[in-house]
Amino acid sequence: MTLKKSIKMTFVLAAALSLLTCGSGKKEKIQVVILGFDGANWPTIDPLIAAGKLPFLKQLKETSAWADFKTDKPTKSSVIWTSIATGKTMKKHGILDFTYLKDNNLEVPFSNSEKREPSLWQMLDRFGMRSVVINWYVTYPPDQFNGVMVSDRFRQIIIKKPEFANDYVDTVTPGMDFYRLKKVIRRDYGRTIERIGMPDFIKLFKKINPGKDVRKSFTLQNSRTFVMQDALIEDVTDTLFKSKQADLYLTYFRLPDIVQHLVLRLFDDEYIKSTFPEGETWNMSVEKQHEVIGRISQELEPVYRYMDRLLQKYLNDPKFKDAYFFIMSDHGFSLYPGGYNHYDLPKDMEAPPGILLVKGPSVKPGKINACIYDIAPTILYLFGLPVDRNMDGRPLQDVFKLSRKLKYSLYSLDKNKKKVRNQAADREAIEELKALGYIN
Ligand SMILES: [Zn+2]
Repeated sequence: MTLKKSIKMTFVLAAALSLLTCGSGKKEKIQVVILGFDGANWPTIDPLIAAGKLPFLKQLKETSAWADFKTDKPTKSSVIWTSIATGKTMKKHGILDFTYLKDNNLEVPFSNSEKREPSLWQMLDRFGMRSVVINWYVTYPPDQFNGVMVSDRFRQIIIKKPEFANDYVDTVTPGMDFYRLKKVIRRDYGRTIERIGMPDFIKLFKKINPGKDVRKSFTLQNSRTFVMQDALIEDVTDTLFKSKQADLYLTYFRLPDIVQHLVLRLFDDEYIKSTFPEGETWNMSVEKQHEVIGRISQELEPVYRYMDRLLQKYLNDPKFKDAYFFIMSDHGFSLYPGGYNHYDLPKDMEAPPGILLVKGPSVKPGKINACIYDIAPTILYLFGLPVDRNMDGRPLQDVFKLSRKLKYSLYSLDKNKKKVRNQAADREAIEELKALGYIN
């Protein structure tokens, strides 16, 4: 063998060896997908599972770690979803509830520029990791980080004429993705409800309450927009989940909450009057409560069936074969003397829990205890990253067969990436909140 040849051979051998060691010693690549469904709860899901209406959710619950997801007061979606993403309480993260502001004579409005603590995607950014964030609560103006953010203002584009669509260019970062997403917008309401299997709630209402005015309920009056917005978010999620490589994916759907806010309008007046008698003390028997929840659950069937199909689609996606899924809601709903709601409940009533399902390669199935503040530390732990010492929850270590060394650190917002408020968007958001009854 000539010297030249033997050097060549050594080189080839070394290259092969390095490939081998790289392959066997390769660090496992963790991928996490968070799917949010506002207001979803077990008391209305379980009867549908039992009736065989939600086949995917049924087997998912049997094979996942799941919880009555403990939430906190004030049970307002903006506050809670921000707590889920930061692992911190309202007073720390600064996205405050309006009732709290009023009671304390504060005047801090409601915008992502007021957020004081980093969300998961900003914590991951510190380690050069990528996130795709879609429609998460209080994300406008969108954050600057390694990844893509479709803020919760983007969905408003569905009610604008196509020629004004570009007014929404600042709702997505990077801006280039806005132009790609603009192409997935489908504006035909009739085809949309057929596609996603939703009834027309206004028609349902008119059938049950002939001659009554839909405008008495903001949620009902705007139900077509809310339905179109979630269908749009499905299209956006499909597009970005497929085309973007990331470590963390988050997306959020709102319909379970919306339909529960209007569901009592789908019952006739007599039933409502006898179920929630005015001026009388609240003494609804447990049996009666079961009956009312059962009726509500039946009305929610199309919404949960839609959720069932979304879950099936994303969990069966070959791209996410080895991913960890966190499926959750921010709160449930409670029957109370005034009706059915998740806020403004009597003081002694607990915040109604949401749902949590954790599914993944090393997840142990079964019931667990978990609260909204546990999600952020659990995901950091799963990625092998330090947990923030200032978080109000704990990593759910027992959920996994794998075990990692717990490390701690402090995370803060990058001041160089400060966002600027948009006054017009603030006004729109405040009008919508007023109409939903969140503020007076
Ligand atoms: Zn909510």
